[in-house]
Parts: sequence; C-alpha cells; structure tokens
Amino acid sequence: MLAKNIANKMNGSSWIRDMFEQGEKLKQIYGTDNVYDFSLGNPDLEPPEGVKKALRSLVDSKLSGMHKYMSNAGLMSVREKIAVHINATTGLDLRAEHIVMSCGAAGGLNVVLKAILDPCDEVVIFAPYFPEYMHYIENHGGVPVISPCDPTTFLPDPGYLEKRLSPRTKAIILNTPNNPTGVVYDERTLIDIADLLKVKERQYGSRILVISDEPYASIVFDNTEVPSIMKIFENSVTVTSCSKSIALPGERIGWISVNPSMEGASLLVGGLIFSTRSLGFVNAPALFQRVVAEALEENVDPNIYKERRDILYNQLTRLGYECVKPQGAFYLFPKSPLEDDIAFVRRAADYNILVVPGTAFGCPGHFRIAYCVSLTTIDNSLPAFKALIEDCRRLQGI
Ligand code: PLP
Repeated sequence: MLAKNIANKMNGSSWIRDMFEQGEKLKQIYGTDNVYDFSLGNPDLEPPEGVKKALRSLVDSKLSGMHKYMSNAGLMSVREKIAVHINATTGLDLRAEHIVMSCGAAGGLNVVLKAILDPCDEVVIFAPYFPEYMHYIENHGGVPVISPCDPTTFLPDPGYLEKRLSPRTKAIILNTPNNPTGVVYDERTLIDIADLLKVKERQYGSRILVISDEPYASIVFDNTEVPSIMKIFENSVTVTSCSKSIALPGERIGWISVNPSMEGASLLVGGLIFSTRSLGFVNAPALFQRVVAEALEENVDPNIYKERRDILYNQLTRLGYECVKPQGAFYLFPKSPLEDDIAFVRRAADYNILVVPGTAFGCPGHFRIAYCVSLTTIDNSLPAFKALIEDCRRLQGI
C-alpha cells in the first residue's frame, strides 16, 4: 500500500527522533534523572505569562464565530497587527496583505516551496542544515542542493555557494540563528550572498527567492544583532514561528511575510494563499492566531538559554571538546572526539548522553546538543561528558 518513495524515506529518516526514542527507553531503565537527553529541540520552558493570559481571556470571550473558517491567509485583524509590529521593530513597510498565517515554520516553508517550485527546480541549503528541509523541498518536486558552510565559523561560504547556483536555482534557504550550530549569520556574509545572487540572476536571466527560516530570531545572546533579511535581499520571504520564541511548538502557529519591495509580491502572496488551501492546511489555527496577536511583545527569556549555553560551552571546552561558540538558538555543535560521529553518538548513549550525529545535518564529524533542558540535567551530565571524552581518547590511544 505504501508508496515506495515514502517507504524508502521512512527507513532511518530521522536521527533526531531515533535518539529521542532511545532516550525514552533508557529513561525507563535508569530513571529520568540519570539520562541526559539532548536530542530534541523541544523547548522545556513554559509560554510566557502574557501568552497564557491572552489564551485564558480568549477562551472565556463571548465573541461569536471565533472558531469558524476564515480567509485562507488568516484573520485580517491579526495580520494587520503583525505588520504593524514588524514595521515598528524593523522600519520596513509591510501591510496585512504581505502576511500569510501558517501552521508553524514547517507549514510555512511547505507553503512557500509549494508556491514557487516547478519540477526539478533547485533549492540551495547550507550544511549543516535542518534535516527536514530535504523532505520539504522534495515534497514539492524540488531538488535540494547542498552548499557547505565554513567549518571554522559555520557561516555560509559565498565561494562554495557560487559553484552551487545554476539556471535552475529557484531559491536558497537561510536559517539564522541556526539549527544545529546556534550561529547567527553576520551582515557582511549576507551582503556578500546578496551581491552574488544579483550577479547570478543577471547571468542566468532568472530570479532567486531567499527564504529566511527564522524560528530562533528572538533567542539571541551577547547583544548580537540578527540582520534583517528583508533589508538585505529584495526577493525575500521570512517564515516566522512561535514554537521557540514563545514556546508554543505543539500549537502549530507562525506566519510568512513577503518583502513588500519585491517585484510581483502580491502574485506571490496569492500563490501562498492558494498553497495554504491546496495543501489542506486551509488556515492556521484560529484561536492561536488571536493569541499571537495579543502577545506580539512576549518572548521567552533568552537569558535562561544563555546561562545554559555558558555552562555547557565553558565546561565542555575545558574538558577538551572543540566547539564554535554559538550566539543564539539553543544548540551547540561540537566536533566529534571520534572521527566517526555515528560511532561517537552510539558511545555517548553508553554514558546515557543522547545527542544527534552531525551526519543527520549533512555535516559529519560533529554532533548536536539541544540544551533546551533543565540546568539540573546539564549539571548532572558533565561527569558523563568527561568520562566519554576520556574513553574516546583511550580508544584512539591518546
Ligand atoms: N526550521 C528550523 C530550523 C527548526 O529548527 C524547526 C524546528 O525545530 C522548524 C523549522 C520547524 O518549526 P515549527 O515548529 O515552527 O514548525
């Protein structure tokens, strides 16, 4: 019954989920406190009080028709508020017509890709990448093209990118702050990419859309600036999610913003609205559209994640793990102490540490730690990380 394509993809399709499942089994054997599960990017923080308050008051509201179908783009009043909020924080000039509400970033990315891809169109992603991009691109007949980042900084390398761009390139996906590295792309790198795209568009007579996937935009440390993608790239859309910023991943809410300065912006918005409908999303969840509109100023406290980053980064590098210091999101992406990152991750599980191999993100030789877990788990895991690296050194005769 199952399509061959899906059957093939299901086999070992997610290292992240596999490690998470393994963690669940280990917790049954050793107890939750003795397993250090850094596998899944599932925020352990509760939504901010303002979000819960908005939810409570909306649930109690006497407004009629709150739970009805609506325009596929979402509620006009909500899209208006979002546009005003974006303009106030960025100085851009969006209107409600430039916003399409989505079922999280995952839903938003699928809607954008559905709207723009013809069969065999290419979409460039930067390795290490969020593994689901591969599926999202292939869902809509596209071909993922992988461009490696500079391994010393995990910034996209315009030199490599130039070699990956072709007359078939329809889009590139940027993700900053990044999953799995936590790195924030700096303005210089983004401007270099923008200049390169203009040259290639002229050369090929094509247009390349920049899709900025921004679930971690508000989780940034050390006063690091996250440059506005819309100010740098005219042909751009941003996909925003409330999954991490206000810790609502299970509620499936986010939105797509289309750059108002882009030629053909309204036609693209029409395509996004059609795709929202034809993919069967119909519209983003009504209740949570309203909640988000009431809670646009809310954010989880990034200092909570910063404290965890500091402890893990400082302690692990002291133990001898090598790692680029991340400025955002809630991930570390250290070098694997064993050359084979899959062997390393299996060994880590022997110490009850669940992490994900870099191979899953198109970047072997590394591993990902998702530190959206309690400080207690982090503190308790440190002796296990110490024993693990000592074990790896012994194995290598160091
Ligand atoms: N993009 C990236 C880079 C992510 O890390 C995630 C989730 O972890 C998503 C998209 C999907 O987010 P959402 O829950 O908003 O669909």
